[in-house]
Amino acid sequence: MKKHNFSAGPCILPEEVLKKASEAVLNFNNDNLSLVEISHRSKSFVAVMEKARALVLELLNLENHGYQVLFLQGGASTQFLMSAYNFLNTKAAYLNTGTWSSKAIKEAKLFGELVEVASSKDKNFSYIPKDYNIPTDADYFHCTSNNTIFGTQMKTFPEFDGITICDMSSDIFSRQLDFSKFDLIYAGAQKNMGPAGTTLIVIKEEILNTIEREVPSMLSYKTHIEKDSMFNTPSVFAVYVSMLTLEWLKDLGGIPFIEKVNEKKANLLYTEIDRNPLFKGMVAKEDRSIMNATFTLTDENLKATFDQLCEQAGISGINGHRSVGGYRASMYNALPLYSVQALVDVMQELERKI
Ligand SMILES: *Cc1c(COP(=O)(O)O)cnc(C)c1O
Repeated sequence: MKKHNFSAGPCILPEEVLKKASEAVLNFNNDNLSLVEISHRSKSFVAVMEKARALVLELLNLENHGYQVLFLQGGASTQFLMSAYNFLNTKAAYLNTGTWSSKAIKEAKLFGELVEVASSKDKNFSYIPKDYNIPTDADYFHCTSNNTIFGTQMKTFPEFDGITICDMSSDIFSRQLDFSKFDLIYAGAQKNMGPAGTTLIVIKEEILNTIEREVPSMLSYKTHIEKDSMFNTPSVFAVYVSMLTLEWLKDLGGIPFIEKVNEKKANLLYTEIDRNPLFKGMVAKEDRSIMNATFTLTDENLKATFDQLCEQAGISGINGHRSVGGYRASMYNALPLYSVQALVDVMQELERKI
């Protein structure tokens, strides 16, 4: 039996998606050629790219809202600098909620003045700052919707009249939001959408007018929009698997459906963390992520026993990030409820054992 995969990224993908993807590697579309050995400009692959882009807009409720969808390479990490390269003319405002925000800030500083509107670094990023002001003259406001490493998640977003940019790498397609409030959304595929190798960008076309700097072709959103994400060879396999995952999500009932499942999974685990005296959560309750739950043992001496029980139960990938320690259970869209139940069962077994 397949393991219960709580990996933070690259993450679990639906079984049926992996099956279709593996078939396409051998024989794509019954063309008797592999998906990875055909031209990205072939009819078969262009259809994949177009379908993937259309599914993104449909699932996010952004059809006919003036958005463009791109699948680029370089990961969310390249978006840290690419967003700033294109849109930071003078001054930008950043909310610092963790490792990934900090990295985005470091890159943006190369392009202009940076205002950190608030930071939760004082408490090791265990909460989301709430009261802060965004300078009205900022070129844009940047935030990270879900902090994969620390396990916090923004439940609300500040009102800002200017451009809003959001790194949604680890919770895109997991919950309902008014996505039209964002002008630029980016997400590395490997957290909740597909394998590593492609990065989703959803961008409102009208903000392209604000670009002042001359930007090298590969780092220019305009270039990639003009070429329909085919300026250079896209990561065909990663785009294809992402498309399959989006199709899977649509068939299930889209974000409204998966949001309910995700809430159920998160509730099940957090309820046990709060009930079981052997465990404690690591972040402020109101800011807990429904994707990545961080927790520790109240008695570190139980670690070997707990780890062994987890291994016996086929639970994989729950070690906390090396910068935080403890445990982290990532419950992305494709993780079934029964996997979370398996983890909860082990937590209860530990309690019975001691
Ligand atoms: C994983 C992650 C990143 C980095 O993504 P890469 O695709 O590896 O560059 C950035 N932001 C968040 C929120 C992440 O979870």
